[in-house]
Amino acid sequence: MKTIGVVTSGGDAPGMNAAIRAIARVAYSKNLHVLGFEKGWEGLLTNTVTRLTPRNVGGIIQSGGTILRTSRCPEFKEKKGIRKAAETLDSNKVHGLIVIGGDGSFRGALELSRETDALIIGIPATIDNDVFGTEETIGFDTAVNTAVAEIDKIRDTAISLERIFIVEVMGRTRGFLAATIGLTVGAEVILVPEAKHEIKEIFQIIKENIAKGKRSGIIVAAEGIGDTRELAREIEKEIRREVRLSIIGYAQRGGSPTARSRLLASLFADKAVQLLLEEKGSRIVGLQNGRVADIELKKSCTTKKPLDLSLLKLAKVLAT
Ligand code: ADP
Repeated sequence: MKTIGVVTSGGDAPGMNAAIRAIARVAYSKNLHVLGFEKGWEGLLTNTVTRLTPRNVGGIIQSGGTILRTSRCPEFKEKKGIRKAAETLDSNKVHGLIVIGGDGSFRGALELSRETDALIIGIPATIDNDVFGTEETIGFDTAVNTAVAEIDKIRDTAISLERIFIVEVMGRTRGFLAATIGLTVGAEVILVPEAKHEIKEIFQIIKENIAKGKRSGIIVAAEGIGDTRELAREIEKEIRREVRLSIIGYAQRGGSPTARSRLLASLFADKAVQLLLEEKGSRIVGLQNGRVADIELKKSCTTKKPLDLSLLKLAKVLAT
């Protein structure tokens, strides 16, 4: 019987637990032992490990966060840390390791794959959806839905008080969350780091909307665009109306995963175990053209995932 390892690393994302559960149960059905390393890469440095069985992953499919916990681990960025992790895999006779995380975790996984004989497979899980090689990451859909529910409530106040709201959403340096959220809440303006936004253009859209009789407005801004507080002040000064800023923040990272996030988690987990059974490593699983597929880990780490800017164009048409 072979042993496989699982680790969740970097930012948590809703659906990580569903992935852990599916890995443990698919692996069990294939006669594999599963070890969960705790607290991200840290668990591989300290050999903090727990056995995962079909029973002890019960009752977690609906919960956010990760039962294995996660961390950001600076020591792992050094050669010494990577070597220690490789030794831990060796001493636990881990044949393959499944890394559930985002692009940072995958860069760590790539470094580790160079130092160990264990096969390494990545499962993309981050609310930011910024991993190359998959159309969607585990957790993205949940974060979108959480933000949309919040913004729908904000819209009620915006309409009642005839106000403009800037809503800042997460996404780190990327605009995947902002673009999808903006389109699906009917935002008047969507601001993402991938597109240039002239402040004069924003003023113009708002003024045109006011002239058209739109008395309220929602601007969805990605956190990566810069200082949204300052932006609110500038718009307020220009249009001489109150502009409110609402930062949704960490609520987007938590909560019960949507059915879509659970589905992706289950499908990705199944594929990851299958790849290990086929003795394949240094790959990540992902959704390509709507199907579960896999690509090279290195390719994923070294390629920037493009944001489809046509979403913004459509959002503009729909908000007229
Ligand atoms: P995410 O996986 O959500 O993108 P981070 O970017 O914080 O999260 O990365 C998670 C962890 O992966 C980091 O704390 C670090 O331990 C490891 N990591 C990130 N980049 C590298 C790298 N270039 N080399 C080795 N380890 C890395």
